Amino acid sequence: MHHRGMTTTPLNEARALLNGCASIAVLSGAGLSTGSGIPDFRGPNGLWTTDPDAEMLSDFDHYVSDASIRVRAWRSRLQSPVWTATPNAGHLALVTLEHAGRLAGIVTQNIDGLHQLAGSSPHLVNEVHGSVHRAICLTCGHEQPIEIVLERVAAGEEDPRCRDGAFNCGGILKSSTISFGQSLLPHSMDDAVATVANADALLAVGTTLGVHPVASIVPLASRAGLPVIIANRGETRYDHLADVLLDGDLSELLPELLA
Ligand SMILES: [Zn+2]
Repeated sequence: MHHRGMTTTPLNEARALLNGCASIAVLSGAGLSTGSGIPDFRGPNGLWTTDPDAEMLSDFDHYVSDASIRVRAWRSRLQSPVWTATPNAGHLALVTLEHAGRLAGIVTQNIDGLHQLAGSSPHLVNEVHGSVHRAICLTCGHEQPIEIVLERVAAGEEDPRCRDGAFNCGGILKSSTISFGQSLLPHSMDDAVATVANADALLAVGTTLGVHPVASIVPLASRAGLPVIIANRGETRYDHLADVLLDGDLSELLPELLA
């Protein structure tokens, strides 16, 4: 044993808790990707803080009923920082956890694909709010890589419609993400619950746990008696359920926690 005195920091406490766990479920949110230059929504530099109008772009009913909203949404997708963002040390720490054989799965609210880009196995990443990397036709459901549609937008189609080989229904296209007013894909919450059921700890990172039903896996894990560790910059809705709370920059915290 090292003799460093009796000081127990939350970080050491969290480490000790996780060291005893063979299979850890992770819930990740926007705070994990701010370190990669992708703004969150309601933070100090958040998308909706700096441009309150932008929130409309994420409302499903507005998107479907108003062509001018779709034009703005496609323009904004074209300029999104997502296309050039790279994973940060927080994402990479979760890859290390997987390689150590201790990751039950990642349930992510993020739509940026950075977990997979970092090297997390796609079958272990449950994108409950969808992905910006695919476009979907709201009429026939056909999905295609969004790059193809973005090229059409860049070439002058302001409100691109379903037109991709055999799929040619003319329906409205949208990024394959869950907007306000849309329900989650039926299997995604079941899969999230199963991930927690197969784990012996839950680590929530970079989310204020305000978006349901996804955030409900925290009380679920707590009721099941799993240790719950919440790492976020600032308070979360379920701080009272956490065994250990870590407050800070996730690109620094996670490598220290999971090293
Ligand atoms: Zn279609």
